[in-house]
Amino acid sequence: MTDARDTTTAADRSHLQRCIQLARDAVDAGDEPFGSLLVDATGVVRLEERNRVGGGDETRHPEFEIARWAANNLTPDERRSSVVYTSGEHCPMCSAAHAWVGLGTIVFAASGAQLAAWRSEWGLAPGAVAVLGIDTIAPGTPTRGPFAEFAPELRELHARSLGLAQA
Ligand code: ZN
Repeated sequence: MTDARDTTTAADRSHLQRCIQLARDAVDAGDEPFGSLLVDATGVVRLEERNRVGGGDETRHPEFEIARWAANNLTPDERRSSVVYTSGEHCPMCSAAHAWVGLGTIVFAASGAQLAAWRSEWGLAPGAVAVLGIDTIAPGTPTRGPFAEFAPELRELHARSLGLAQA
């Protein structure tokens, strides 16, 4: 369901840049570089979150927090018409949570496949969870991404969070 690959609107770009700033804040706080926003049908940012796994709970992904917040705070119609922006494509857990609560489109800056390729380049073992795209886990969810313009900055952020000086 990916469309308009590599073409961002001005609003997309602004929201994705904010996600990347949240990812940067996460790294500065000792967490992994992921940040996400929920934007409602009127274009208002309703929630911002960043990764919070630094405390030891590896499920504290921003997209998962957004799904749970949406379930508790938005009507089904509001959820369906919302767009979730995120610095990195949802993992399988977050894709499932997004679909279970009935949220709308996902716009992601970098894909899970890109992150897996960077990790492999850096000689790291694959993570504990398979790299399955949103399209596989939540086939009814419209997606846009990845966008090449954000890849260098995200690659650098992931390298920094892994303690790699210059990747
Ligand atoms: Zn996740």
